Amino acid sequence: MRRTLGSYMPSRRQISVSSRLLAMGESDDIYQVVLHEVAHAVVHDRYGEKPSAHGREFRAVCIELGVKPRRYVDVTTEKWQSQVRYLSKCGHCKVIIVRKRRMRSVRCMCGLKLYPGSWRPVAPADESDPQGDWVAL
Ligand SMILES: [Zn+2]
Ligand SMILES: [Zn+2]
Repeated sequence: MRRTLGSYMPSRRQISVSSRLLAMGESDDIYQVVLHEVAHAVVHDRYGEKPSAHGREFRAVCIELGVKPRRYVDVTTEKWQSQVRYLSKCGHCKVIIVRKRRMRSVRCMCGLKLYPGSWRPVAPADESDPQGDWVAL
């Protein structure tokens, strides 16, 4: 499965990187995706709209930047789904509730039974610290 993990928007001169990649990707994959998009930005800055997306100019800039001149960066995302959690907040005590699934109802520590209208997908900010912060996906 191929996902869009990064993009470059010439009209806004803006690079976007997937929040899932940043939260759950290997640092080398993040590096490759960011540099791939930087290469697009450099090509656009130097040559404007003319060159084809992954053409000769793109390959030359990739070599300059020390990134593999590929059409896309192949990142293994299979493991990611198992890391996704869903976050809601108790309207009474404001405590954060995190579950593996979007449940219809959940019991808060304060004793209140909640029916969350929305669960936000999140991932652990630091995989090795299960009590740590969550980042929104
Ligand atoms: Zn590209
Ligand atoms: Zn509560």
